[in-house]
Amino acid sequence: MHSAKQHPTPQPVDLGVDDLASRLRFSFDSGHIWLGESRMLLLHGAALTALRKELIDSLGVDRARGMLLRIGYASGARDARWARTLYPAATDTELLGIGPALHMLEGVVRCTPDLMELDIEHGKFHGEFTWHASFEADAHVQLFGQSTEPVCWMQLGYASGYSSALMGCFIHYRETQCAAAGAPCCRITGRPAHEWPDAEAELRYFQPDPVTDHILALQDRLQSLRYAIDHDLHTDDLVGASPGFKQAASLLKRAAHSQVTVLLQGETGVGKELFARALHNVSPRAAQPFVAINCAALPEALIESELFGVEKGAFTGAQQSRAGRFERAAGGTLFLDEVGELSASAQSKLLRALQEGEVERIGDTRTRKVDVRVVAATNVDLEQAVQERRFRKDLFYRLNIYPVTIPPLRERKEDIALLARRFLDKCSARHDKKVSSISDEALHALQGYDWPGNVRELENVIERGVILAQPGGAIELGDLFPSITSDLTRKRQLTGLARDGSVRAHDEHTVGAFLDHVLRHGVGLDGVEGLLLDAALTRSGGNVASAARLLGMTRPQFAYRLKRHGRSGA
Ligand SMILES: [Zn+2]
Repeated sequence: MHSAKQHPTPQPVDLGVDDLASRLRFSFDSGHIWLGESRMLLLHGAALTALRKELIDSLGVDRARGMLLRIGYASGARDARWARTLYPAATDTELLGIGPALHMLEGVVRCTPDLMELDIEHGKFHGEFTWHASFEADAHVQLFGQSTEPVCWMQLGYASGYSSALMGCFIHYRETQCAAAGAPCCRITGRPAHEWPDAEAELRYFQPDPVTDHILALQDRLQSLRYAIDHDLHTDDLVGASPGFKQAASLLKRAAHSQVTVLLQGETGVGKELFARALHNVSPRAAQPFVAINCAALPEALIESELFGVEKGAFTGAQQSRAGRFERAAGGTLFLDEVGELSASAQSKLLRALQEGEVERIGDTRTRKVDVRVVAATNVDLEQAVQERRFRKDLFYRLNIYPVTIPPLRERKEDIALLARRFLDKCSARHDKKVSSISDEALHALQGYDWPGNVRELENVIERGVILAQPGGAIELGDLFPSITSDLTRKRQLTGLARDGSVRAHDEHTVGAFLDHVLRHGVGLDGVEGLLLDAALTRSGGNVASAARLLGMTRPQFAYRLKRHGRSGA
């Protein structure tokens, strides 16, 4: 029954779609739809259309095309294998004809065979088919408008998968015309892959795409870039022009060349770690490690072993001796963030490390000398913590030798523009997206906001702005968080129109833009009146009485003016 060579068979085979449809079973108790032994799904065409768009948007046309082609291929190959077991007595040509019938049954496309020549034994194949009502062509046009080239990739993959599984060798199809590109219907031609002299590029789409490798490689690159940006800091990279900032920076610079323990005070998000890093980078220890630890981020049970290290067997789970952060920072700087959160026991060990310059690993009897410069930071009032007996007095005095207070961002508004500019550059690099500037209006909103989350919040806002902004464009007001812009809008409304209708405090943007429009386009006084009448009517939903009220007129006055302008009220 192999090797059935036949010539043009324009009419569909007898084993048609009706017989196939009778094998479709809905099993409502188990929630299955079966076609033969394959579980099928009823899926909204619109969902597949949306997926197509997402694939193209996120992966690009090329990758999306390959992915859809391979999905189609898998489905076609499965159908071919099923058709063979379903109709063991069918000829090869008949079996090939079942492919179009199945594709139609599955709701994808109405397919008619124009030519089916195949000889499985000798690997000969030539198939030509016409597609009517192609789902993919419709979907593509709906999403992107008319295309310049054929787009029925998944259907093409199906044809390829079906024919290849039937033939036992790879059959490549090409769509010679496509409804999405303006043709009345789609047509495809299939031949063994080696008979296509110029199909190399198309055949590549059948190879699984290592897109995850690319993404991982990009992520690595991003990580290292981010690392480079975040760690290549110098005191001069801490930007600020406000008196509060300058004072803190100057205090810090003067401490850099001594070994004094520095205590950084300030609200969450003011950038204490950046200051600590900068201090380290301008100190003689710059070539040695900078080690940071957030004392509040670790559970009490872990913080001591993290700070001071642990000897093998000290407790269950301590299977290896491990150096703590103190030892790892040897010769360099140890940054202890949120030092006020340390347990009483950790506080006494820290005091000893600061006073004696030595640490003892947990479970160890030896002490180890450590040469470490400590920079501590806190966002709580340590003095008050001492009074409440939550913090050791002697440790507080030991830490508080050289306190530096970093003011919150709302107290140094002069720094906002500078910081925003720096974050813009940094986030542009981080997201590999060039964003040129921040619009005046957006900057105005940034400067008017109170920044409870301080510099960190500003950086987040700029990062979001970079993501939302047009490539090559500026961060606009609309790209900022609503909380920031609504602040501005509210202030604007307060300074909008006064009761008597006069502009109380100039909203220079809106009024300016309006005047600009009027003067530039020669609207004229009469025209302005017309514009106002129309606007009032629109806002009042066509109600003349309330439109008149909006403009401080009586209904007859308003109606008279409308008439004069040749407009009619509803
Ligand atoms: Zn097409």
